[in-house]
Amino acid sequence: MPQSVIGRFAPTPSGRLHLGNVLCAMLAYLSARSQGGRFLLRIEDLDIPRCPASLSQAAMDDLTALGFTWDEPPLYQSQRSEIYRQALHCLTEQGYTYPCFCTRAQLMASVAPNLGDTVVVYPGTCRNLTGAEAAEKAKTRTPAIRLRVPDETITFTDRLYGVQRENLARDCGDFILRRSDGLYGYQLAVVVDDALSGVTEVVRGRDILSATPRQIYLQRLLEYDTPSYLHIPLLMDGEGRRLAKRDRDMDMTALLKRFTPEEILGRLAYAAGLQQEIRPATLEELIPMYDPAKLPKDDLRLKGFDETTAFSPSFFFRPEML
Ligand code: GLU
Repeated sequence: MPQSVIGRFAPTPSGRLHLGNVLCAMLAYLSARSQGGRFLLRIEDLDIPRCPASLSQAAMDDLTALGFTWDEPPLYQSQRSEIYRQALHCLTEQGYTYPCFCTRAQLMASVAPNLGDTVVVYPGTCRNLTGAEAAEKAKTRTPAIRLRVPDETITFTDRLYGVQRENLARDCGDFILRRSDGLYGYQLAVVVDDALSGVTEVVRGRDILSATPRQIYLQRLLEYDTPSYLHIPLLMDGEGRRLAKRDRDMDMTALLKRFTPEEILGRLAYAAGLQQEIRPATLEELIPMYDPAKLPKDDLRLKGFDETTAFSPSFFFRPEML
């Protein structure tokens, strides 16, 4: 019997949901539902101080207002430390981890400033500390825990962007599984949660495409299945900057005051190539229109975006705006 599809949306509630998050939720939802699959919600509030409960609730309220439903109670990463601890323990037992005592300032000083994006390849300072050296350092500093990655290339096929390759040692380096303040790393949490929830397909923003090989490597070490991956283009503003939580006028509080859920979803479905004209639509109406072959690869640029036009009805009704 073919495995049934389980998709998910996994927002980080460090701000209100914005239009880019909703595009991601919409495509993840339509993909799962169009295959008769289940859809889960996971609140990625690992970084507890930055993700207050009020923002998790606001994200769920916005999703509900837009017509999303999920098939199980949402998972909260902030409540799952014990599960991540067990996974980390399993990796440590097998010798895949080591304690890292480097401070942030030391790390920043050791890397070239022009690495672009956010990937900082760890230079391996603490990789080969002896037990005695580590014990000495542990007297004054609580270490982070890193995964020791091999000089190995991970290859996978993204359903939109095609074959992806990344050499773990060269392109990402030993990465953090638990921070020195005790918070678990995103890569570990996402891999554990997707696997234990039985997620079979991951639909999420292209910004996480380059983290996927790390996640696939962790899945292998933990003997989990690898889901299918479909990364989607990002929504950009008129200057080509990614929409972010700082753009308060694009958040759902603001947009739901001015537009109906159907107008917002219909506009996003047009931008994503699912419908040929701009017309309001419910999520249910969009399910039969979903086809991953229609999705654009290029980031979706909000042409003419600025503080005043982003709000205007023309943003929703003039096709050239996206
Ligand atoms: N929490 C991540 C975000 O909000 C998404 C993680 C994922 O989908 O794997 O960008």
